Formats: sequence, structure tokens, C-alpha cells
Amino acid sequence: MEVIKTISEMQKISLGLKASGKRIACVPTMGYLHEGHASLIRRGKEIADEVITTIFVNPTQFAPNEDFEKYPRNFERDCEIAQSNGCSYVFHPDILDMYPIGFSTEINISKITKSFEGLSRPTHFTGVATVVAKLFNATLPDIAIFGQKDYQQSLVVKQLSKDLNFPIQIIIAPTFREADGLAMSSRNVYLSREERAKAAILFHSLEAARKVIMSGERSRKMVNGVIHSTLRSIPEIKIDYACSAIADTLEEPDEFLAGERIVLLLAVYLGRTRLIDNAIVPVPRMLDTASDRFIEGI
Ligand code: AMP
Repeated sequence: MEVIKTISEMQKISLGLKASGKRIACVPTMGYLHEGHASLIRRGKEIADEVITTIFVNPTQFAPNEDFEKYPRNFERDCEIAQSNGCSYVFHPDILDMYPIGFSTEINISKITKSFEGLSRPTHFTGVATVVAKLFNATLPDIAIFGQKDYQQSLVVKQLSKDLNFPIQIIIAPTFREADGLAMSSRNVYLSREERAKAAILFHSLEAARKVIMSGERSRKMVNGVIHSTLRSIPEIKIDYACSAIADTLEEPDEFLAGERIVLLLAVYLGRTRLIDNAIVPVPRMLDTASDRFIEGI
């Protein structure tokens, strides 16, 4: 595995791989890799010849009061994880190569960025869309793999790719979870032992909402109420949002319809750590078709 530090070298390598008929998968990350990231790299290796993992903590997707400075980093360990899961190249650019003095372009995506994560973090998705476009142009992949863990981000990336005609297949892979259901995240390292034990409530609240949908609940308010009341069983949790919406559009109707796919979305603070999670639930057409599982991967 090779570590590539500059955009120009990365482009040269990718063009060479393409010229020799190789298919490239790109897995964009901010590093501090865990099994969730590793699962995306392995998926890339299954469906492409070469996997490029990008490791770049992107300052423009953090607001000034957020954790850019203290975001966990361990580049050496990241390289070991990337390599052992089949990655061929780690692209690890400097901030000044990505954002040289005079950098002036921003990509704004409307509609789907206006609610949920976009309301709480108003500059976040502009930072994400801009850096993803730059990473696509640096790595020139045929396929790019993202995690469902960041559900709204996955919609943003699909919209970006479609609207700006990137010739890249976007794959959204399932959320990789700890044994108790907590979605793996680089930020889980911020949790104290006590907080970590309580964090499984996020997944339990999604499960509780799934169960009421499967047993016939269609009212968005009632579904949201179930997520809220489950989360409130842990007093240390402060809810930022805990909502349900139509999965493809993020619209919030009063009532969901049979056959629709609902996304359950939540963001909470547990102590000082902000955690997000989500799940997709199909609204059963008839109760006897109700599934006992979330839809995994989108
Ligand atoms: P991050 O490094 O947190 O920006 O994440 C990089 C990519 O990994 C994004 O596409 C995330 O959605 C994805 N990802 C993060 N955590 C998980 C997880 N637990 N399971 C699957 N994908 C994940």
C-alpha cells in the first residue's frame, strides 16, 4: 500500500490505473478508522480492482465551536487498518494542498440539507459537498462508497454526484454496529465508560420506533414520540433531534403511507459527545408482511 500526499500525484496514479483498465473504488474518511470504515474498504475491494482510502479531517465541515482541533487522529494505525482490509492507496493530503490561499469555491445543495443535521449544523453540508467533489476530482474513482451511518450525508453525496454529472457509482453501505447496537463512530472514543454503557439507548430507540411502525402506526408524531420517550429513559441524554421522514426526500408528512420507506433520524448529546444514528423502516402494506428487520444499505 502506498501513501499519496498530493492531489497531482494522486491524479497521475488514478489516470495510470484507469489507462491499464483497472476499476477504482474510493472510500472517503476523516481517519481514526474503525470496523465501520474497514467494512467499506472491504466492500470496495470486492467490487473494484483498487481501493483508495482518503484520510483528511476536513476543516470546512466543522463549525468554529465544533471538535475539529480535538477530532481523534492516528495515521499510523489508520494505514495498518486500511492495508489489512485491502486498500491499495491512502490519499492523505495537506490542508494547504486542498485549500490553498485564495480558495473560493463552495458547493451548496438545497432542499435535503435544510432539515435535521443541516438545521443543527448550518455550514456542515456545504463543507461536505465541497470536499467530496474535490476528493472525487483527486482520486477519479469509478465507484465511491459511503456509510448509511451518515444518512443525510449519503443523500447529499448522491445529489451532488447526479447534479454535477460525476461519472461515479455511489454505493451506500450498511451501518456497522457494536454488539449492543451502538453505531461505530470515531467520536465514540470521547465517551466515558458510564456514557458508553448508556449509548446503546440510541439503537434501542430506533428499534422501538420500528416495532410500532410494524404494528401499524402511521402517524409521524406518534413515531417521533416513541423515539423521544425511549431516549428520555436515560436522563444524561440531551436530544438535538429525533425524527422520522420519508427516506428518499426527507419530507415530513403527518401520516406515512403503506409501501413508503421511513428513515428514523436522531442526534443526541451524551455528556459532551454528539452522536447520530438512523435506520430505514419499510411501512408494511399489510401487517402480515411486516418485516422484523431494518432495511440495510440503500
Ligand atoms: P467519517 O470518517 O466519520 O467521516 O466516515 C467516513 C465514512 O465512513 C462515511 O461514509 C461514513 O458514513 C462511514 N462510516 C462511519 N461510521 C460507519 C459505520 N459505523 N458503519 C458504516 N460506515 C460508517
